[in-house]
Amino acid sequence: MAYRITSQLYEKIKHFARFPPTGVSLRQMVMFGQNPSQGTLLRATQFLADELPIRIAHRVKELDNLPHNLSEMPSIIKVKNWYAQSFEDLVNFPKPELPPIIREKLSANSAEQTKLPDNVPNFSINLTNSGKLKPSVPIGHRYYSNIDDLDWPPEVRYYNEKFTKLIEAIKRRHDPVVTTVGILEYKQHKKSAVIDTDIQAFLDRFYMSRIGIRMLIGQHVALNRLPSRSDYVGIICTKTNIAQTVQDAADNARFICEEYYGLFRAPEIQTYCPHDLIFTYVPTHLSHMLFELLKNSLRAVVELFGDDVDEYPPIRVIVAEGKEDITIKISDEGGGIPRSNIPLVWTYMYTTAEVQKLDPDFIDSDFKAPMAGFGYGLPISRLYARYFGGDLKLISMEGFGTDVYLHLNRISNSDEPLH
Ligand code: ADP
Ligand code: MG
Repeated sequence: MAYRITSQLYEKIKHFARFPPTGVSLRQMVMFGQNPSQGTLLRATQFLADELPIRIAHRVKELDNLPHNLSEMPSIIKVKNWYAQSFEDLVNFPKPELPPIIREKLSANSAEQTKLPDNVPNFSINLTNSGKLKPSVPIGHRYYSNIDDLDWPPEVRYYNEKFTKLIEAIKRRHDPVVTTVGILEYKQHKKSAVIDTDIQAFLDRFYMSRIGIRMLIGQHVALNRLPSRSDYVGIICTKTNIAQTVQDAADNARFICEEYYGLFRAPEIQTYCPHDLIFTYVPTHLSHMLFELLKNSLRAVVELFGDDVDEYPPIRVIVAEGKEDITIKISDEGGGIPRSNIPLVWTYMYTTAEVQKLDPDFIDSDFKAPMAGFGYGLPISRLYARYFGGDLKLISMEGFGTDVYLHLNRISNSDEPLH
């Protein structure tokens, strides 16, 4: 039976949508997640149990207020219902049954709760049993900080585990969101060649929010599930090796390219990067961006030179290490892009490849993509870059080639861009 949003639920959604989302920086996630105790994880659970419904409520409201009657499109209603269902699952998630003694300790300090909406699991986890509080990192009106390892009762572990299962299921429910929403812009695009800035702005916000929600969920699940590894805090790697990540992305992109064009050898990718250059980042995000950019360059080169030349001009990846940024430049000699088309490459449906069929039931895992044809490789990569305070720029020399600059912020203390 089709899911329906009851008016009661909708009221609740509207209520939660009045609260601003609270951004977290990469640095905060790293500081928070080192060797978490069950109590620390409980605090994170509490944070997410407040924060996810707020972020999701904003998306439901926005999906309901799209221009040009787009809110009535079946694919949009479908996506909206996924969000509403996830919202409902989260706000109905039962409070844990904690022993009174722990409850007393936990609720002794309610400073953090002053602005919390009703109906969220409502217990404070500000104080440790010993009364000690590790240095906490302020974010918005709440605190996201470590708690000493104590004898947390089994109920706490059980609660953390149940919550982890719930958000894993929510993440899975939302896997096909990008391909389903993609249909929206495709239909618009067919109607007119003009970029609809309202829709662009909506999609930028919508996908950025999705990246943030999936980051928070992915990080929480990893902290609860994965055995701790020395170089990792959840899904964040404190020693992400750039040269190695570029090499892996290059191998994957060249492999896909050879398959797609039936080539014996894809163009070479030459990397100029210190082998020991490491920094703190989410390796899956970095791989995703590099893979998308390298596929674009490979495609441009192969399509310019044809599939039976002896040698292609190589693609060059140059990595510079600054104090503020690590910048990765990808230069190809694939002929560039006409200047009048540059604004289009940042839209979510623009592609000069044969358009890939968008099947709403097609399950898109986050980090898999064909050679080209969905048209969202560049804009989504730019969102990933911006999510942690970086950026993506493209400069083309029509008739020669394209340079793409991927800036990655090293200081990584900027909050998630959520507005
Ligand atoms: P897709 O690769 O699925 O088409 P993208 O967002 O990755 O989507 O790229 C959009 C379009 O931008 C491409 O179809 C292509 O026309 C153009 N483009 C991107 N990168 C390059 C490049 N390095 N050289 C030439 N054209 C490019
Ligand atoms: Mg692409």
